[in-house]
Amino acid sequence: MAERFPPSPAPTSPRNEKRYALDTEVVSTENNDQYSASSAPLYQTATFKGMGEYDYTRSGNPTRTYLERHMAKIMNASRALAVTTGMGSLDVITRMLKPGDHVVTGDDLYGGSNRLLNYLRTTNNVVVHHVDTTNVETVKSALAEKPAMVLLESPTNPLIKIAPLKEISEAAHAANSNCVVVVDNTMMSPMLQNPLDLGADIVYESATKYLSGHHDLMAGIIAVNDSKLAEQLYFYINSTGCGLAPFDCWLLMRGVKTLAVRIEKQQRNSQLVAEMLESYGFSVNYPGLKSHPQYDLHWSQARGAGAVLSFETGSVELSERIIEQTRLWGISVSFGCVNSLISMPCKMSHASIDPETRKARALPEDLIRLCVGIENPNDLLDDLTLALMKAGAVVYSDGTWRRP
Ligand SMILES: *Cc1c(COP(=O)(O)O)cnc(C)c1O
Repeated sequence: MAERFPPSPAPTSPRNEKRYALDTEVVSTENNDQYSASSAPLYQTATFKGMGEYDYTRSGNPTRTYLERHMAKIMNASRALAVTTGMGSLDVITRMLKPGDHVVTGDDLYGGSNRLLNYLRTTNNVVVHHVDTTNVETVKSALAEKPAMVLLESPTNPLIKIAPLKEISEAAHAANSNCVVVVDNTMMSPMLQNPLDLGADIVYESATKYLSGHHDLMAGIIAVNDSKLAEQLYFYINSTGCGLAPFDCWLLMRGVKTLAVRIEKQQRNSQLVAEMLESYGFSVNYPGLKSHPQYDLHWSQARGAGAVLSFETGSVELSERIIEQTRLWGISVSFGCVNSLISMPCKMSHASIDPETRKARALPEDLIRLCVGIENPNDLLDDLTLALMKAGAVVYSDGTWRRP
């Protein structure tokens, strides 16, 4: 009977064949389309007739499968699952938690993740420990609670702190063999870091950021190697209906093919911006700079420094003036887009964390975050320097720019 149906486009991301370098794999796709379409077809349908492989898009859709297999390949996972947003990924993952379970996580967490954990803490009796994940000893003392889950980010955003992923994963599994180690890899993307290879059980990314790259869709990708874990997560996705819609799967597939070139350029631009700000005398957080206190640790687990950096100006008013003066750098939350963005996390992306908590976690109110795009680097450097000058943050004297 199945023979009567045209071939499904769902993949063939060849896991068992020769593996190429990641920048090759990211553009190499195959499908079984009956007309050999170069771009896999979009199955914009809710239902499927007959008794074939697919019946209802909430449960499965060929375009979603195609994307998921491709993502699994580039994330070094045996299975990837596509959901509606990055936060949707964490929602699915935290459905594994039961009342009374402990979660150990960072103190410079993405604002939305912080908010979701707070909700689980206040309504579901989940005990959440926010600790400094740069310090293994601090993490180890929290692991004495035998947490059901450890949730890590590295680098963190916006303070760009590095967590030793391998060491913490090992310690977490030693403290509780059932502990699920989860890494939010949004800041690095699979081009630069593969937490599953470092001992994590689950990796997820907001595909709204680098994976798609153009700020034209929202999505989340969850990746695992354990098939039982994959089935459990798929169960939550199918039950709650948060699987990514076919059109967004198709758009994400289109966007992810340029991941390698985008990251390469964004990273090169970031290095130049970071070096420039440091030369002006600002305290810059970027793991591409030797001055980063965890430079060696970062490079032991990642292949690049990424394209998000932050710096302090010493005054909230000065920071506000700077971000208002830029023209090329758009004032916007989020990152991972081909356009360069500037923001003040305490006023924008992290405003959902109350001021007391921000203070307790040493999140400077004057912090400026830069998310670097693919523009010409000279234009980016000029625009930023001009904004710094107009705001009064730098002056030109003796042939160099410096803080007054
Ligand atoms: C943006 C982001 C998320 C949430 O992703 P959405 O797609 O916006 O839901 C989670 N973690 C990090 C680190 C992010 O930057």
